[in-house]
Amino acid sequence: MKHTKVKDLLNSTTTLQEVNAKGWVRTFRNNQFIALNDGSTINNIQCVVDFENTPDETLKRITTGAAVSVIGTLIESKGAGQKYEIQVNKLEILGDSDAEKFPIQPKNKPSLDFLRENAHLRVRTNMFGAIMRVRSVLSFAVHNYFQSKGFVYVNTPIITGSDAEGAGEMFKVTALPFDNTPRTEDGKVNYKEDFFEKETNLTVSGQLEGETYAMALGQIYTFGPTFRAENSNTSRHLAEFWMIEPEVAFNNLDDNMDLAEDFIQYVIKYALDNCQDDLKFLEGRLLDEEKSKPQAERSEMALLEKLNFVLENNFKRVSYTEAIDILRDSTPNKKKKFQYLINEWGADLQSEHERYLVEKHFKCPVILFDYPANIKAFYMRLNDNTEPGRETVRAMDILFPGIGEIVGGSEREERYDVLIEKMKALEIDEEELSWYLDTRRFGSATHAGFGLGFERLVLFVTGMTNIRDVIPFPRTPGNAEF
Ligand code: ATP
Ligand code: MN
Repeated sequence: MKHTKVKDLLNSTTTLQEVNAKGWVRTFRNNQFIALNDGSTINNIQCVVDFENTPDETLKRITTGAAVSVIGTLIESKGAGQKYEIQVNKLEILGDSDAEKFPIQPKNKPSLDFLRENAHLRVRTNMFGAIMRVRSVLSFAVHNYFQSKGFVYVNTPIITGSDAEGAGEMFKVTALPFDNTPRTEDGKVNYKEDFFEKETNLTVSGQLEGETYAMALGQIYTFGPTFRAENSNTSRHLAEFWMIEPEVAFNNLDDNMDLAEDFIQYVIKYALDNCQDDLKFLEGRLLDEEKSKPQAERSEMALLEKLNFVLENNFKRVSYTEAIDILRDSTPNKKKKFQYLINEWGADLQSEHERYLVEKHFKCPVILFDYPANIKAFYMRLNDNTEPGRETVRAMDILFPGIGEIVGGSEREERYDVLIEKMKALEIDEEELSWYLDTRRFGSATHAGFGLGFERLVLFVTGMTNIRDVIPFPRTPGNAEF
């Protein structure tokens, strides 16, 4: 007989004579009640075992973590909390789980640190089951959004031959041996003898390749893994993370902001509509966690309220220049509470400043735009009519409460001459990026795009606070287990 998913059993509209459920035991109470979970939903189905007619041997093997198959009748539950339960007629232990050794025991309330070390088993907890289902639904929503708007999904290379992206430190890709490494006459590594006959790296962004596709297909997006060898051990950075990068021909910076805002609101709404049980659970988890914090550090809104707030309110659009004025006059700046004090226009914004703007000043998502040219990447479009010495580019960052930067994007410099000038000033090899410059040589046009870090989005939606907890097997400095 075919087994039915727990989710479908719980959603049944009638009692059923005979059903089969398979899953893992979460708890076994009073030698009678199994809470069975199969991952299809955060909710367990209660399976009532006829302990008087079940051998002791079998009852002993119903332990947390064991895989079991039950056949029985789906009846209306007398207990509170569930509509249906299974009155078990036949129980089979599919795989034992030694109660002494299985590390995920609900009674112990394992810490997030402990669970990270057991990333292969942590997904058997309610919390990680919920997070990973939400993550999956969010990625579906990403594709849904762009596909329904006619964007073409483009798979940009993971091994990249261009090292001029400048978005972060790169991991080298090589097949050369470390002993007897082939060298050129002047002692440098001879990449001519390497697999690709040149230096290659793991990509930090698919943007430059994505632009070339946007200049033919109109609207494209990428959604794939990116790698940064950044040694910043923060709760917002991974060495391997997933990035979504739309790029649109004929879009300017305003269109780009509209797209980013609409996109983020869509995917959050999609999660709210399709992950109700999981989000409710995560909301409860967060409330619980925050009970141990002083009042001032607790969030002002519960999770669902916060997600709805983002849907219902426009993101506040603020120029870099306005932001600097706000920060310069802010209390933490005057009282020298910021680690990096804001004294003048041109300062790069640190996360403490971003968080002040979002969490204390505006209290809503903020889009900062028109940044000083010299703190941003070479491909961003220079604003017309900016004061000499105060040149700005058409860049935007979207800042989220509790997260900081979630999106970085820009209108791209479409003018060949201006772009070349900029590359010369920054000593970026024109030869190396000749293919990229072709987009400006042949049929150049205004275009814009952005990059959104998928894990930062999952962080926001799940209310988790450490990025290591929203990707199945996190890669961070000093950690590449599994
Ligand atoms: P940050 O200042 O937070 O390091 P960034 O300016 O380096 O970000 P971009 O190069 O603009 O970020 O990348 C686009 C987006 O990718 C960011 O807005 C962020 O959401 C995400 N992102 C960047 N670096 C990481 C990382 N190491 N781990 C996870 N997400 C990241
Ligand atoms: Mn960075």
